[in-house]
Amino acid sequence: MHKIVVTGGAGFIGSAVVRRLVGAGYDVTNIDKLTYSGNLASLREVDGAPNYRFQRVDICDQPAVARIIADARPHAIMHLAAESHVDRSIDGPAEFLETNVVGTFHLLNAALAYWRGLDEPHRSAFRFHHISTDEVFGALGFEDGLFSEQTRYDPSSPYSASKASADHFVRAWNRTYGLPVVLSNCSNNYGPFHFPEKLIPLTILNAMEGRELPVYGRGENVRDWLHVEDHARALELIVTRGDVGESYNVGGRCERSNLSVVETICDVLDARRPRPGGSHRDLIRFVTDRPGHDLRYAIDCTKIERELGWTPAVSFEQGIAATVDWFLDNEWWWRPIREESYAGQRLGTG
Ligand code: NAD
Repeated sequence: MHKIVVTGGAGFIGSAVVRRLVGAGYDVTNIDKLTYSGNLASLREVDGAPNYRFQRVDICDQPAVARIIADARPHAIMHLAAESHVDRSIDGPAEFLETNVVGTFHLLNAALAYWRGLDEPHRSAFRFHHISTDEVFGALGFEDGLFSEQTRYDPSSPYSASKASADHFVRAWNRTYGLPVVLSNCSNNYGPFHFPEKLIPLTILNAMEGRELPVYGRGENVRDWLHVEDHARALELIVTRGDVGESYNVGGRCERSNLSVVETICDVLDARRPRPGGSHRDLIRFVTDRPGHDLRYAIDCTKIERELGWTPAVSFEQGIAATVDWFLDNEWWWRPIREESYAGQRLGTG
């Protein structure tokens, strides 16, 4: 398996996947519409590589996607293109249905038509990999254990409902039409090239600029954090070695409350760039909670550990320190986003 079409490869996780695959010598075609969160600057490292091509296309444009797939003749499609921010899904859910549900449907159709035209052994080896989220499982209580691959779907937000729907369509294309699919549901990612609307990059940039650090509710909501490069490594294993029809939970075994994440960032910045007159922690402000805010997500990743030999390699403490350093060193990447695209204002109050 060496030719791969990636959708959403200009986004946060997609660009980490593209950088990894191109670096490892795969032939990669990246299909991305370049919405507000898509950014070709995240792919500067692979730009011009002979084994990398970019196509600016909306996944809802089925004929265009079908042409690209026919030209690329991939062994696998890794589907990451999505609207990905819960707060934006509260303010404007229509876009989430359009890309995450309808777009996935169009991509599945294009993939199915291509797959049906393949000869053996290419046909049996082909994989359609849907990259999904742990948010499809809904909320856990503090004492509720972990999400496994068997946990019932119970999404809370328009975002997680759209991803859950896409997961169901992907499984249906396997059971009904035989398309060889594999799925993965991952916990919260963080790392370099993260669009600064999500908790970690937003907090880093606000703290660097001495602005207030909003924390939803009392900051007690818990997420299971995973470094994006650990996720990209898991995705390469799943697409190349995962079993057809299976799903794999991917997580960092690293539960942290939102408040403790924000405090950790403040402590790293206090060490790197002390704030005159006090700690960065003094900037923390509790604000009205997100509507429908899931209390806790936590992943049981025993299956991928046991079957594919994957474990997270980056500890949260190392990963957060490296991420803060990356934002300190890479203003060229985030400054244009802050000034032209998203300045950090509150979203998703409903
Ligand atoms: P992102 O918002 O950073 O990137 C999404 C990318 O998809 C962007 O490059 C955007 O331009 C592209 N895109 C959006 N609509 C498109 C369309 N109609 N056609 C083509 N391209 C389109 O998101 P991300 O955080 O990198 O997430 C990538 C995937 O991983 C998503 O499917 C998301 O649900 C899933 N996921 C994310 C996380 C996380 O913590 N960020 C965790 C688990 C799963």
